Amino acid sequence: MPAQIIDGNAVADRIVAELAAEVAKLKAAGRGPLLVAVQVGENAASRVYIKNQKESCEKIGISYRLDELPATTTQADLAAHIGKLNADPRVTGVILQMPLPEGLDPRAAQRAIGFEKDIEGMHPANMGRVVYGDAAQAPCTAHGAYLLARSLELPPSHDPLPEFAKRVIAAGKTTAGLYGKNVVVVGHSEIVGKPLALLFLDSFCTVSVCHIATKNLAEMARQADILCVAVGKPGLIKAEMIKPGAAVIDIGINRVPDIGPDGKQLLNKKGKPAMKTVGDVDYEKACAVAGWITPVPGGVGPMTVAMLLKNVVEAARAARG
Ligand code: NAD
Repeated sequence: MPAQIIDGNAVADRIVAELAAEVAKLKAAGRGPLLVAVQVGENAASRVYIKNQKESCEKIGISYRLDELPATTTQADLAAHIGKLNADPRVTGVILQMPLPEGLDPRAAQRAIGFEKDIEGMHPANMGRVVYGDAAQAPCTAHGAYLLARSLELPPSHDPLPEFAKRVIAAGKTTAGLYGKNVVVVGHSEIVGKPLALLFLDSFCTVSVCHIATKNLAEMARQADILCVAVGKPGLIKAEMIKPGAAVIDIGINRVPDIGPDGKQLLNKKGKPAMKTVGDVDYEKACAVAGWITPVPGGVGPMTVAMLLKNVVEAARAARG
């Protein structure tokens, strides 16, 4: 049976609708959230992100402001600007647009954002909260990929469910579908692979993490009931590396030439060689083996945006006390 296609847009829309209701409540209480994006210098790519972020926020009533700093901004200037935003009670969250101009240290700048206002979940304190099983402000893509897997109706690995499983399911830590699953995460970056592994671990999955130095990737991947891939290499995961019936969560985003049936690269509307976006999994062939699979685009991507909004709402809620 061909794989069920996981509709990331539909799951994200459900989450965003709930968030809209939360934002309405916060606004009614005079605590409407404000997300401030900080952009240093000019960058065409981040213009697109900023436009999309603004639209996504405003659609559900989150105010969005862009603070533009000149390309000559020093590390100290940037830290001072972020410091002001940290201290401003009207600002719920701060998002730093990447890349920064050469000469600025992105990691140091990112860490200048107070953990309460760190909407991308990249501050060490928010990473630490994930270790402690608190995903309130977790890294967006990892959290989105995890929730997408959690949204599936996977057959239970334990039948009948042990009493312990029933307790942790009732407590919301996991689901009958996730409890006891073998999860393989390919990729161990700070923003995706590592936090994703922790989120599954906290749901009582048995987690293996593969990376560039993994010797037997195919063998490892075939153990997975849930296979998550966040590498950035198109076609890395072939159909024969997937356990029949597994759930495949493809996080990779790669731009590749769009090839027509005649083997030649297609042309776009402007008559230029066309490109398309693909993940890390050989999607067409994987569909014949997997039980569930995310498309790229339309899988994890919309969930990342939803998690960004969720983190703004969480930050606004936390700021209430
Ligand atoms: P990264 O470059 O920081 O990490 C890549 C990881 O892949 C590393 O752990 C590395 O060891 C591993 N790796 C490299 N080659 C490998 C191989 N041959 N076999 C096994 N592992 C290998 O990347 P990242 O920032 O985690 O991003 C990974 C992918 O996810 C990229 O394609 C990125 O565009 C995408 N991404 C998507 C979203 C989204 O919203 N869907 C968000 C962030 C990143």
